[in-house]
Amino acid sequence: DETRLIVARATGIAERLTLLIVRDISEQERLQQMRQDFIANTSHELKTPVGAIALLAEAMESASDDPDQVRRFASRMSAEAQRLGELTGRIMNLSKLQAADELTEFGDVAVDEVVAHALEQYQVQAESADVSLVRGGDRGVHVRGSANILIEALGNLIANAIAYSPHGSRVGVGVRATADAVEIAVTDQGIGIAEADQQRVFERFYRADQARSRRTGGTGLGLSIVKHAVSRHGGEVRLWSQPDRGSTFTIRLPRSEAPDAGATPARRKR
Ligand code: ADP
Repeated sequence: DETRLIVARATGIAERLTLLIVRDISEQERLQQMRQDFIANTSHELKTPVGAIALLAEAMESASDDPDQVRRFASRMSAEAQRLGELTGRIMNLSKLQAADELTEFGDVAVDEVVAHALEQYQVQAESADVSLVRGGDRGVHVRGSANILIEALGNLIANAIAYSPHGSRVGVGVRATADAVEIAVTDQGIGIAEADQQRVFERFYRADQARSRRTGGTGLGLSIVKHAVSRHGGEVRLWSQPDRGSTFTIRLPRSEAPDAGATPARRKR
């Protein structure tokens, strides 16, 4: 049974680490720029060896009765062909990179679905901890982002809220939309976080003392993943907490219109 626990924990850590690896927005933009420069440069670079090979082939044809000349043209042709090979290799790598990026492509995300999925993932955990999950607030709001990443982030907050709460308490997930932002708040009536720890809990592997004594299964990675995922969406995470009274973690994201509400799809940054 202990082995099963360890395996489950290791899998959890592996999943969380995958999310840590996702690049932040500024790096995303830098990559995008690099890619565009690269495409402009390569199309020019590709033309050069192709043109050279064509010219050398013509020259070889007309020099067919001079073996020395033919050999010289042939060796230059082979060098150009090698250059062409290297270039195509680089282009292949680039498109692989792009494909990996596309897997986490941002799009329209319905917050209702993110909340529903995140709650569903932890329903069993909540029941076995005798914690009731309650959903409230606004419906029908949208953000731009990756639904999977947001579900993972909100899920981490819900998992913590359950883990650090007493039996018979409630965990609330509330959505509030303002003109330009969407806030998703997770509130618990649990052990809370001492003021001295409130900044540090977002650091990788940091765990507050109260938590360590209560739940040995934690990794200290959850909140750093939440922070990273949310900042990748151009948002931020806020924390309000009082020891023994509870905590509220709020994910604040820039708001976007539903695509069918007449909004134009967001253009890719150049
Ligand atoms: P983990 O929960 O695996 O230890 P996290 O990064 O998710 O790691 O959280 C870091 C620390 O923040 C926890 O160890 C705990 O001290 C504190 N913490 C997070 N969420 C809560 C919460 N809802 N109530 C009380 N403490 C919390």
